[in-house]
Amino acid sequence: MKIHEYQGKEILRQFGVPTPRGTACFSVDEAVAAARQLGGSVWVVKAQIHAGGRGKSGGVKVAKSLDEVRSAAQQILGMQLVTHQTGKEGQKVRRLLIEEGAQISKEFYLGMVIDRSKQRVALMASSEGGMDIEEVAAHTPEKIHKLWVDPAAGLTGAEADEIARKIGLPAAAFDQARAVLQGLYRAFVEKDAMLAEINPLVLTGDGRVIALDAKFNFDSNALYRHPEVVAYRDLDEEDPAEIEASKFDLSYISLDGDIGCLVNGAGLAMATMDIIKLYGGNPANFLDVGGGASKEKVTEAFKLMLKNPKLKAILVNIFGGIMKCDVIAEGVVAAAREVHLSVPLVVRLEGTNVELGKKILAESGLPIISGSDMADAAQKVVAAAKDM
Ligand code: ADP
Ligand code: MG
Repeated sequence: MKIHEYQGKEILRQFGVPTPRGTACFSVDEAVAAARQLGGSVWVVKAQIHAGGRGKSGGVKVAKSLDEVRSAAQQILGMQLVTHQTGKEGQKVRRLLIEEGAQISKEFYLGMVIDRSKQRVALMASSEGGMDIEEVAAHTPEKIHKLWVDPAAGLTGAEADEIARKIGLPAAAFDQARAVLQGLYRAFVEKDAMLAEINPLVLTGDGRVIALDAKFNFDSNALYRHPEVVAYRDLDEEDPAEIEASKFDLSYISLDGDIGCLVNGAGLAMATMDIIKLYGGNPANFLDVGGGASKEKVTEAFKLMLKNPKLKAILVNIFGGIMKCDVIAEGVVAAAREVHLSVPLVVRLEGTNVELGKKILAESGLPIISGSDMADAAQKVVAAAKDM
């Protein structure tokens, strides 16, 4: 689960990481009032969306008067912000962060992710922070310094100092850098983050080390123990189909293709997407209805897939283990009737009561194409989608 920059900065401050003072705003008037309240003479007006790359796309503007704050807020609020992380549709800006302008002497990069192969949190830091970190990673990866934190010891002061030295922070700033690095690491671990990024971390003209940006991504499997993180959730930033799916306890992820997949079990769902690809098709979604898929759940799953305007065909691939094939077949038939299926439907059933299940499908009178095995079903659905 992702959160906004201003929320990430609230977390950073709780862990002793300095940030500029700032206020989240939902209207232009609020933005101007917030700037007046903050005082000073330079403010930064920042679009709050769950994607980076805002600076390069007009989503971050410096203002040197309250009038400039007003016009920047007017420009940014409500805009459809397209960045290299949003996809071409972009994301509508509904919130702003009004922040005091920092006087930047140098920008650094600091990030943490979980490295599964090493079973540790990997810390990455670079002297080349700011808006072009992707370029640095692609062309001069040696400029990104890495460290794998021992989970028992945590990030030690000596390790933090070593990183600070490698990225070229002045010795006078080491104490501050240590607080930032250790604070970010503690926030990462205590909040069950999967990714945390401060880009840029800056050294100011007067020698302070502060976080000018904050990005967090939390492990959704751990949200049950972080109600304070769940409270940060902004459904406007999430895929409506995925939100709908979560209400019915369906694991659903939207993809770019045109073949809907309804499968039981995450492993079979992945294998189904693979085999569709193997035969030249493209899955429209990942969808695992789970072990005990009821008729209602199957119906909701069909409705979800059919909301996708790109959908050209559906493949139902079910292995009836605990779940019996005849029950699934009845669910599929009922769901197909209820949603007035408008695209070809290919069904592959295997497992307990498979003969009975196939009979129910055949006698339903619905134009269901039966697949004898996974390869057959995948070829048939790819062909059906091509014909649409
Ligand atoms: P994004 O990563 O989405 O482009 P950032 O928050 O990193 O957005 O902002 C982009 C750039 O804007 C930063 O690299 C920094 O140069 C500048 N910036 C951001 N916040 C401030 C601030 N409070 N004061 C001064 N400059 C800022
Ligand atoms: Mg940034």
